[in-house]
Amino acid sequence: KIDFAKASFKDFENIEHYSVWQRADIHYEFLEYMKRNGHLNYRLLGNSGCGPVLELERADLTGKNQYISLVSNDYLGFTQHPKVKEASIKAIEQYGTGAGASPLIGGYYSYHKEIEDTLCEFFNREPGSAIIYNTGYTANSSSLMSLLQKEDIAIVDMAVHASVYEGIQLTNTKRFLHNNLDDLERILKMVQDKYRTKLIIVDGIYSQDGDMVKLPDIYQLARKYDALIMVDDAHGIGVIGEKGKGVLKHYEMMDKVDFITGTFSKTFANIGGFVISNPHMSAFLQYQSRQNAFSATSSPAVAGVSVAIRLLEQEPEWQAKLWENINHLKKGLKVLGLDVGNSQSAIVPVKIGNPHTTSELGNILLDHGIYTNPILYPAVSKKDARIRMSIMATHTIAQLDKVLEGFEHADKKLKISKNK
Ligand code: PMP
Repeated sequence: KIDFAKASFKDFENIEHYSVWQRADIHYEFLEYMKRNGHLNYRLLGNSGCGPVLELERADLTGKNQYISLVSNDYLGFTQHPKVKEASIKAIEQYGTGAGASPLIGGYYSYHKEIEDTLCEFFNREPGSAIIYNTGYTANSSSLMSLLQKEDIAIVDMAVHASVYEGIQLTNTKRFLHNNLDDLERILKMVQDKYRTKLIIVDGIYSQDGDMVKLPDIYQLARKYDALIMVDDAHGIGVIGEKGKGVLKHYEMMDKVDFITGTFSKTFANIGGFVISNPHMSAFLQYQSRQNAFSATSSPAVAGVSVAIRLLEQEPEWQAKLWENINHLKKGLKVLGLDVGNSQSAIVPVKIGNPHTTSELGNILLDHGIYTNPILYPAVSKKDARIRMSIMATHTIAQLDKVLEGFEHADKKLKISKNK
């Protein structure tokens, strides 16, 4: 019997001797238990577009259902940008609502090609170097599944996204301690000459701590030990580097890595993902990457992505405003004695540790009209629970001040501040 008081979602992935239906039933009991005990505020239903304020199907203490939202990765607010919306609407009018087929058999349209071409320009790669996927998740998982075989090895920062882990399930894998170069070198030394291809996989910005990869050092190690590098810059693009070109631009290493992957679901304000390499590799993935070859392409609404990419260059003021907001909120949280870890991006955690306190904090904030995400195990390690916030360029300073007031209020009950 599972002890619900100590259980986490991971405990329900597989339960010995339980059929699929029995697992679903006991999992349901667990969800009910979590709700009864005030630990479940996920999957809240939103009734408005994603933006700095979100209307939820729930009322706060004052009876309002307008929440300041810190849960969206639409960092520059482009999901609501008139030019981005217009491009998607126009494409739907021109092409209809769906693509009707997978890319090799009729589902490859000029709006897809335009995104690929715009991405190549953006990353300064020769035309034909980009392939797009239906999500950032499959860009990682599917490309990795076809790139790495049993003769190869994936060497991953242990904090990489779940989609990377999915992609390397069938190959050899070693994990190095987060951002720890000594541990990476230890592994590279150990696996030297044992594998055909060694691929180091890192995120540009890590999705839970918001900290940045130490890419120049990793590059040196990759050269020394003859390894390739893949960087998933899902959270860096739009936020970091000149004109939002991401972590690779920040380090002036745009042409130094073998694969760049990313998503359309954050700064690019849509849904989809991409892998950038070179034209031969893109052609290889077009035919060999199964989730790409056997899945229908994205709908014409994705056309807004080309416009969003170009907006980074045309309207740099959004990135500047985003940083004003990030700095304001982080400064305020530090003054309150809260631990924001080593965040270097628009992802700002407030590290709490205890999962129950973290859930409670999430609920107190919600009751005060502030929507954040409590992040618990297995998304982070067991003692590392935190509130995670994503800051947007379209938040106002007044909204962020209200968020700070929410934390100050919660501290009276939960004593989370390190200030004496
Ligand atoms: N990579 C990282 C680092 C992510 O945080 C995410 C998810 N938000 C993804 C990939 C997956 O992207 P998508 O939402 O487009 O599937």
